[in-house]
Amino acid sequence: MKVIISQVLLDTLQQAAATATPLECCGFIVGDFLAMSPPFKVKGELEKKLTFLNDAFIEDLIPTPNVSPTPQTHFEIGPAALVAAHRANRNRLIGYYHSHPSRDAEPSLTDIAHAHATNTLWIIIAGKITRVFITMAPHRFAECEIIVT
Ligand SMILES: [Zn+2]
Repeated sequence: MKVIISQVLLDTLQQAAATATPLECCGFIVGDFLAMSPPFKVKGELEKKLTFLNDAFIEDLIPTPNVSPTPQTHFEIGPAALVAAHRANRNRLIGYYHSHPSRDAEPSLTDIAHAHATNTLWIIIAGKITRVFITMAPHRFAECEIIVT
C-alpha cells in the first residue's frame, strides 16, 4: 500500500517532532483512501504509481496537545481535541501521527495495544525518519510506501 504526502507536510511532521522533543508530538491525519473517493485526486504519472485499492492521500495534519501523563514515552489525544477534529473533518480523519523522541520509528508495544481500528494510518517520526503504517487488522501494522509529491 502506498501513501501520498507532500514534502511540505513531511517537513511539518519533522518540525513538530523536533519542537516537541523530549516529549512526543501527536495529531490527526486528514485525507482519503483513494478507492473510497472517486474521482481520484491524482492524475497522470502519479496515478500510474498507485496499484493498491486502498492507497491513501494525505491532505492535512491537525496537531493536538499530548495529554498523556507520561508524554516522554506515550501520546494521548484528549476528548475535546478528538470531538473538535471529528466535527471539522467528518469522515476525513484517516489516522494519527506521533513521534518517538527516544526510540526508533517502529510501532511500540503501546502503539500496537492501542491500534484497535482497522484501515487507520499511523505515522511515526523518530529523528529524521518518518514511517507510515496501516492497521490491516486490530493490533497489526503493515508498513506503507511513502510517495512524496
Ligand atoms: Zn509510538
